[in-house]
Amino acid sequence: QGRTATKGYAWFVASTGDAYKQRLSLMSELREALKSGDVSFSYQPKLDLGLGKVNAVEALVRWNSSTRGFVPPDDFIPFAERTGDIKHLTEWGLRKAVSQCAQWRSKGLHLAVAVNLSTNDLMNMNLPGQILALLRDFNVPASLLKLEVTESAVMHDMARALEVLNMLSAMGLTLSIDDYGTGYSSLSYLKRLPVSEIKIDKSFVMKLAENEEDQILVRSTIELGHNLGLKVTAEGVEDEKSAKMLKEYGCDTLQGYFISRPLPAPDLEAFLADKGY
Ligand code: C2E
Ligand code: CA
Ligand code: CA
Ligand code: CA
Repeated sequence: QGRTATKGYAWFVASTGDAYKQRLSLMSELREALKSGDVSFSYQPKLDLGLGKVNAVEALVRWNSSTRGFVPPDDFIPFAERTGDIKHLTEWGLRKAVSQCAQWRSKGLHLAVAVNLSTNDLMNMNLPGQILALLRDFNVPASLLKLEVTESAVMHDMARALEVLNMLSAMGLTLSIDDYGTGYSSLSYLKRLPVSEIKIDKSFVMKLAENEEDQILVRSTIELGHNLGLKVTAEGVEDEKSAKMLKEYGCDTLQGYFISRPLPAPDLEAFLADKGY
């Protein structure tokens, strides 16, 4: 569209230029927001079906911009990955997650916290050292910090990602494959990665109760995971019927709106107390 006529093409270049500038400005606003406190985490409970308890939460970033209002993660994270600004978000997020975990521990709440990593993070050889220092500073055991990585992030540079992940695993952190089923899902790399959990992508789970194909895929993924000695989490559990099916399939952990939406820390604490989790 507009590429054949010179005028159209010029318009195309100018507008992408503008969009680019706007996004760069978004990134400098993000860097400011990370310092000012406009960025926070909401925590979504992960219900362990074996224990009948919430023993972990996933930290999901929430940016409430004073000028733009709420900016959804999907509107700035992909761009932050391209500009390299994700590094700042990850550093902020790890510190926030570990300090929150320490705070909960001091209240007698033993909750593991899962943080999402991106491709760039897996290329960062300094990451394991930075995490080790954080855990020491806040006196938090490594077993309470979980990291979620996607298949495509690992595939980007498998050798390097493996090196970083092996160091993290040796430190005692638990690693999860996120959005499982949407990427390459190669069996050989599942075997080679030092992960202890797969998270079945919500696109397979959200309509589980109605969709037979999803039922087949989810059931066989749970079986595959278990045969490899991995725990299996289903994300995007939105209704009771799907939750019951997942329990029947032997799924280990449920995450989704049916359990709870992601909540700010105080609301999460109230939720756990209220439900007896
Ligand atoms: P994700 O890691 O796959 O996180 C799960 C997403 O599904 C979250 O969206 C969550 O709010 C949403 N969700 C949870 N339960 C349900 C459900 O039952 N139904 C539906 N439809 N959705 C559900 P959110 O918070 O908008 O985050 C989007 C993505 O942004 C995340 O996907 C993750 O890839 C990325 N992200 C979020 N926080 C961070 C972060 O701190 N660092 C990095 N690198 N990425 C992050
Ligand atoms: Ca995730
Ligand atoms: Ca996911
Ligand atoms: Ca995702």
